[in-house]
Amino acid sequence: MSFAVEFQAVSRHFGPANAPVKAVDGVDLTVPEGAFFAMLGPSGSGKTTCLRLISGFEKPTAGSIRIFGQDVSDIPPNRRNVNTVFQDYALFPHMTVRDNVAYGLMVKGVDRRLRAGKAEEMLALVKLEGYGDRKPSQLSGGQRQRVALARALVNEPRVLLLDEPLGALDLKLREAMQDELKALQARLGITFVFVTHDQGEALSMADSLAVFNNGKIAQIGTPAEVYAKPRTRFVADFVGSSNVLAPEVTRAFGGPDRWSSLRPEALRLTAPDGVALSGTVTAHRYLGAGSRVSVAVNGTEVSALVPAGHGLPATGSTVGLAFDPAALHVMEGEG
Ligand code: ADP
Ligand code: MG
Repeated sequence: MSFAVEFQAVSRHFGPANAPVKAVDGVDLTVPEGAFFAMLGPSGSGKTTCLRLISGFEKPTAGSIRIFGQDVSDIPPNRRNVNTVFQDYALFPHMTVRDNVAYGLMVKGVDRRLRAGKAEEMLALVKLEGYGDRKPSQLSGGQRQRVALARALVNEPRVLLLDEPLGALDLKLREAMQDELKALQARLGITFVFVTHDQGEALSMADSLAVFNNGKIAQIGTPAEVYAKPRTRFVADFVGSSNVLAPEVTRAFGGPDRWSSLRPEALRLTAPDGVALSGTVTAHRYLGAGSRVSVAVNGTEVSALVPAGHGLPATGSTVGLAFDPAALHVMEGEG
């Protein structure tokens, strides 16, 4: 298999050696060519620094990076065949949309006519035909996002880096753009490295994803693997807000003496009589498509997802809890 991007023990530390900020810390990862790869993690976990290391705007303090098999230690950003769609789009406000899109070609010395033609082609690709003469301030947020995308794609990169590109859009538009980006990636066959702190976005878009925590990769795998089999408490909690059960609670739930996770949608509320497991309802949270019901079991809060249309037990009442034992996922570590 050929890899678009490979990290070998890559670190990027900032500040003094005796008290470094370990933005990226010993990261190993491979992004297959043509993949839609997501980097998912909370704010400050090192995602943007990873993208900057790939694009060449940042150099590793340790380890090595390869792009399509080539060590890029000595390759400057403009010769890496990598482009970035920035979080804030970074469009030039005084330039027209057309000139924004054609900017990379201008820098390369491509002549004006060819540039304009290529810019039109890219605007068509992102469904913005006819917007070339406008200024960025005359566009909606979603349209500006498309211009930023066109401006990166005009350079025909082999790897496109996207840093939380949909973060500024409202939910409806964000979902539409998720579908479009996914379709565009499939059509162009370019490798996408997509950074987000939104677990739903990463799960729905990525072929594979890396979950970041404190500059390290907590887990790497397909969305289904990471969701169903979180390796650590952090992953279980961050990717889909699972119930994380301490060893003694896992035992009470019929499992081994280990940390485990149990998805709220796997828990069913039953009548309290004659069941192995019961608890007291402490809260409800209405979510639209259902409700999340919190239940205290011997001092541990777990939540169960109750689909809309099912009756909700009153706060303070006793309920039984049932689940398929296969849904109880025992974790490798507890970190
Ligand atoms: P994310 O994109 O996941 O939010 P970043 O990669 O931007 O995270 O940052 C990771 C950590 O590195 C943060 O603690 C951030 O403050 C720190 N950091 C990033 N860039 C620098 C820098 N140039 N100097 C010092 N610290 C930095
Ligand atoms: Mg960031």
